[in-house]
Amino acid sequence: MIINKLNSRRIPFIVFSLYCLVSLSSATLLWKYSYQQLTHSSQKQLELFSRHLEGKLERFAYIPQLLSRQSLMVNALQTPNNTALREIINRHLDTTNQIIGASDTYLLNIQGTTIASSNWLLERSFVGKNFSFRPYFQEAMNGKKGDYFALGSTSSKRGYYYSFPVKYAGEVIGVVVVKMDVSSIEKDWIGKPQHFLVTDPNGVVFISTQETWLFQSLSVLSEAIQDEIKQEWRYLGKHIEVLPFDGKFDQSSSLIRFSLDGKFPRYYLALTKKYVKAGWNIRIFVPTKSITYSIVILLILLTLLFILLYLILILFAQRQMRNDEKERLQAKAKQQLEFQVMQRTSALHAEINERHKTELALKNIQKELIQAAKLAVLGQLSASISHELNNPLAAIRSYADNALIFLERSKIAKVSSNLIRITLLTDRMATISAQLKAFARKSDGVMTVIALQPVLLASFELVKPQLKASKVKLVLKLPSNNILVKAEPIQLEQIFVNILSNAIQAMHDSDIKNIDVTLSTSQYQALVEVCDTGPGIAESDIGQLFEPFFTTKETGLGLGLSISQQIINSMNGHLWAKNKENFGAIFSISLPLQQNQELK
Ligand code: ADP
Repeated sequence: MIINKLNSRRIPFIVFSLYCLVSLSSATLLWKYSYQQLTHSSQKQLELFSRHLEGKLERFAYIPQLLSRQSLMVNALQTPNNTALREIINRHLDTTNQIIGASDTYLLNIQGTTIASSNWLLERSFVGKNFSFRPYFQEAMNGKKGDYFALGSTSSKRGYYYSFPVKYAGEVIGVVVVKMDVSSIEKDWIGKPQHFLVTDPNGVVFISTQETWLFQSLSVLSEAIQDEIKQEWRYLGKHIEVLPFDGKFDQSSSLIRFSLDGKFPRYYLALTKKYVKAGWNIRIFVPTKSITYSIVILLILLTLLFILLYLILILFAQRQMRNDEKERLQAKAKQQLEFQVMQRTSALHAEINERHKTELALKNIQKELIQAAKLAVLGQLSASISHELNNPLAAIRSYADNALIFLERSKIAKVSSNLIRITLLTDRMATISAQLKAFARKSDGVMTVIALQPVLLASFELVKPQLKASKVKLVLKLPSNNILVKAEPIQLEQIFVNILSNAIQAMHDSDIKNIDVTLSTSQYQALVEVCDTGPGIAESDIGQLFEPFFTTKETGLGLGLSISQQIINSMNGHLWAKNKENFGAIFSISLPLQQNQELK
């Protein structure tokens, strides 16, 4: 989207440039089109006005000629002193004047003096007035048809004069004149927005629907022309002022400016048509303000449109800016979050490493502790074991001594029998030593699936010398099928030896010294129960039995049960103790059963 790319700072510049471009081009186009339309319609108006003017002028063009043919005119000129005839001709001219609708109709003698006139009874009567200075008189006296425009010397009204010579026997004896009131031409065209005007060959306005422009020129007249006009008396010797127009009037179509001092200039479309017969120019001046108004309206509409466009663009740009800002903030927040996560992760890694190290150290310490506890048990076992080893050692000595004596007496069969006994005894000693060695070695801590029976038997073997020395009777009740658990066998052996050893010690002062070891199973658990016939556990001690360093023995460490419980917990099992109903204690170990697994 283009707006996406728009920078809000550039929007005013872009919109303004676009506005200027569109306004300029559309205003130019509208101006050209409207100007063309105005020219076209004005051309028609000019044509109509021109025809109207020609029609008006032509209307009287031949009247003087007709009148000159009347014998009454000739008679009146021939007998100027005949008052009766003069009255008749005055009345005749008056009637004719009324019929044709002219301003004045009158008859001049060859001196240019009016001898009869349609206005003979009026105050401004031409009768007796001399018009020999008028060109139309001179033209007629030369035998030609004359026509002329001028301000009336008597009425000061604009008139158009038509003249024709009155001849008798080929001689000009007088002139008949019809004067037309020029203002009648303008009458029907006044009040329209456009102005119609007619200028003489010098550019002096003598017909105009704008009265204030009359008898002024469109362009500056030279002094010579001013003098000429004064001499002709056409405008009664007036000095011709110039109208404040600016433009090219010699073209058939042009744009002209009219500027009065202190006022806004007005512009007109000026169209000109030549009236060749009289050397006049018929003109129409059409105000161009209608075009100006439409351009102003167009510009106002365009301005509003572009303001709207500007507001929409600003709105879009602001929304875009907000979105960008939001995205930027989101990206920043994400970055910060990622950084924090990274920091936290590395801290966690460091923490994990530290914990691993600590755990490792803890495991090592635990191993050491287990080993220490084991060695403590071994210490407890050592007296009975050394006793157990001393007996065969003494027996071996006695068999060896006897064998020497039998050898001296050559009783070979008996020597052989003694040696066989010695071998058996050393085998027994080796077994005890191997068991001790196996028990004493450090556990690797690796758990495997094992059968519980061999572990219990090995433990039994280890405490056997102690049982014998303490005269304790131990009964093992083991099921025939392998009971499988996941455990570390040496650690498990250590636990059993510890529990059995505790039971033997507890029964030191007991009359009945029995230990029952039972292995059984429930649905998911294997259960080993060690019951003794000792004094049991004091109620006050039962809560702290498994706490480290709890002991009731003078030389005890108090670590055996707490380590045993930790080991069993690590195998997902439980170790707990309770008293039997009458006397003695029961130590129970439960471990999850392992089904259908191959023994390793
Ligand atoms: P230690 O044998 O060094 O004292 P243990 O943790 O093995 O440490 O045993 C803690 C205590 O538990 C013993 O001191 C003893 O008081 C008690 N105890 C252990 N087994 C029995 C038992 N079978 N009968 C009575 N008390 C027992």
